[in-house]
Amino acid sequence: MTRYIFITGGVSSSLGKGLASAALGSLLQSRGYSVRLRKLDPYLNVDPGTMSPYQHGEVYVTDDGAETDLDLGHYERFTGVPARRSDSMTSGKIYSEVIARERRGDYLGGTVQVIPHVTDVIKEAVLADSSGVDFLLCEIGGTVGDIESLPFLEAIRQLGNDLPRQHTVFVHLTLVPWVAAAGELKTKPTQHSVKELRGIGIQPDILVCRCDRPIPEAARLKIGLFCNVRPEAVIPGVDVDTIYQVPISYHRAGLDTQVLAACGLPDSGTPDLERWESIVRTIRAPDGEVAIAVVGKYTGLLDAYKSLAEALAHGGIANNVKVNLSWIDSEVFESEDAVDRLRSVNGILVPGGFGERGSEGKIAAASFARRKEIPYFGICFGMQMAVIEAARHLGGLAKASSTEFGPTPHPIVGLLTEWTRGNAVERRGMGDNLGGTMRLGAYDCVLAEGSRAAEIYGARRISERHRHRYEVNINYRQQLEDTGLRFSGMSPDGVLPEIVELPSHPWFVGVQFHPELKSKPFAPHPLFASFIQAAVANSRLV
Ligand code: GLN
Repeated sequence: MTRYIFITGGVSSSLGKGLASAALGSLLQSRGYSVRLRKLDPYLNVDPGTMSPYQHGEVYVTDDGAETDLDLGHYERFTGVPARRSDSMTSGKIYSEVIARERRGDYLGGTVQVIPHVTDVIKEAVLADSSGVDFLLCEIGGTVGDIESLPFLEAIRQLGNDLPRQHTVFVHLTLVPWVAAAGELKTKPTQHSVKELRGIGIQPDILVCRCDRPIPEAARLKIGLFCNVRPEAVIPGVDVDTIYQVPISYHRAGLDTQVLAACGLPDSGTPDLERWESIVRTIRAPDGEVAIAVVGKYTGLLDAYKSLAEALAHGGIANNVKVNLSWIDSEVFESEDAVDRLRSVNGILVPGGFGERGSEGKIAAASFARRKEIPYFGICFGMQMAVIEAARHLGGLAKASSTEFGPTPHPIVGLLTEWTRGNAVERRGMGDNLGGTMRLGAYDCVLAEGSRAAEIYGARRISERHRHRYEVNINYRQQLEDTGLRFSGMSPDGVLPEIVELPSHPWFVGVQFHPELKSKPFAPHPLFASFIQAAVANSRLV
């Protein structure tokens, strides 16, 4: 029977609860258990799809087309288990469901209340779609003490009694700050956070204490005593130099051992962590460095491009090099001389994006990469901008543009209202709701024989995840191919361009999908591995 590990956070946000959950999942896997990871987010948005990535970080898309929290990306990168729609739940979804049931009359005229009606739906969400897995790790977003997370905490408290003994484990992650004036680590915030949690009725089994330095034994014992947690279950989570060290460090600190103990499962000795050790070795001692410019829309929050940054690092791991990223706001390229900033880089990447602002700068960056033979990787919007660039400067269509920016005489990129998925037809319209009206999730793509794309993937048919409303307009295919741009990946029905490349260029590839979502440190995505390889070749030229 599945065991449930609930991970809550205290004291502050951004303490690495998602990473701790992901690392614990991977440790349990290395002990031979199957895992799934799930995130319950207390905000009222139905999903993060319509939330600004600059507020909330990137929107992580699953194979089955759900727009989810970026923590699901950590889960996949650490465990390799593809996340599903059922792994992401928000208060918005929960309340929508409760209200739909009330409207349908499911509650037979009873008073609908947070307990038990909202908590029942939360419990259903926790338990759903978990049969056959040994451990379901369920992270509760937010910080204990937040008003909106209360129903979630109440629901998991109830599950502690609903499920058999030793089938639920409560892990609470807190901060142990260093107070410079006192020259001491302080345990009080942790004590208060646990007090808050116990007030709700949850006694944590394990405490993970984030700290910027080793926690002395005396402080650990004190935390255990004041928080009513066994001293060996007070696990230090000391800052590390790379996130891929996290599973190794938590194992050394005893986290997986304590989870097994809490479940009454035998501790079968030392798990094999060579996968992580070899990645960390490569990251700490690379053979060289490459400089990549990422030309996007930035307001400072790098979490907006989390998977992308990780996938580029994975490309570095595959080539044994360190990848130095410079994040450049595309608007700066709208003044001519700014392009100089790209002269010293070994590769240029234009990532996904929305809206007209900054688009001309992205087109300028693609143009520079094409003319100067610098490796260029266009992802989603970055592909669309590269195709517009080719149409304007190679195809003579000076007014080529995307209908995303308004009417244009040459809609090289346009809104598609109908497409197929397997045998089914899917539709969307100009005036549809913003939530969930994009082409979302995994779609197959057929690669042209002899193309660079086919060589990179070593396959002719692939599946990648999508998140976009607009498509490169197939009606311009011939005209664009005449300029030398090859349409090397197409949807199986041959209607939607998925990959374009310039065979005459050292490395110029645009993809309509988001390959960064599927890259893993132990299995770098082939496109990122190949792009960084081309950047390494470029660095040897200069
Ligand atoms: N804005 C573009 C579209 O909707 C690209 C989206 C993206 O880059 N994810 O098609």
